Amino acid sequence: MTEDRAAQLEAIAKRVRVCTDCRLHEYATKGVPGAGDPHAEIMFIGEAPGYHEDKQGLPFVGRSGKYLEYLLELIDLSRDQVFIANMVKHRPPENRDPLADELAACHHYLDEQFAVIDPLVIATLGRFSMEYYLGSEYKITRVHGQPVYRDGRAYYPLFHPAAALRNTSLRSDMETDIKRLPEVIAEVKRRRAAGEISGTAADEPEDDTPPEQLTLF
Ligand code: URA
Repeated sequence: MTEDRAAQLEAIAKRVRVCTDCRLHEYATKGVPGAGDPHAEIMFIGEAPGYHEDKQGLPFVGRSGKYLEYLLELIDLSRDQVFIANMVKHRPPENRDPLADELAACHHYLDEQFAVIDPLVIATLGRFSMEYYLGSEYKITRVHGQPVYRDGRAYYPLFHPAAALRNTSLRSDMETDIKRLPEVIAEVKRRRAAGEISGTAADEPEDDTPPEQLTLF
């Protein structure tokens, strides 16, 4: 790829803004491609835009977004230093869950963003993105905060910020999990430097440890 990352991400964003591949565009005001640093080490992946995101065309700008910003501050990061995107790029009506065919129609945009950014860590926010990257056998209440090192990076399941806003008992786990992110990044770098994982998906062993046997590092 010769174009720079920002230009490649903008080209994807332009296609998202006019996308009609599923029904969601019919109800939405704006497509929400994703936003942040094209060279981010961490990509956060939520579920779907909500009311405020739909109005502004930006991810996580409502209450959940404020909470995500608060969490990022705990590790001295701002939203401009990470990349934030969603599983689907248009708001589902009444904030309902995205449907299987909508997820299927949309995920290629996320895959393209992922390929451009090539992050060290994919931090999934909530069930939909966790299942997309790790599989439906993973249960968030059991595996949150436990990194899976695979394909030269870490997949790091987190609760959705909206869940932690609704259910205050999740907040302390959410904050503990976020505070471990620097350690997870350091571990990916250590493994890459040691040649344990290559940074490319093609030539590495997969960590297919079943979720119940995941080790807390
Ligand atoms: N919830 C999400 O999953 N994504 C957003 O962008 C906002 C709220």
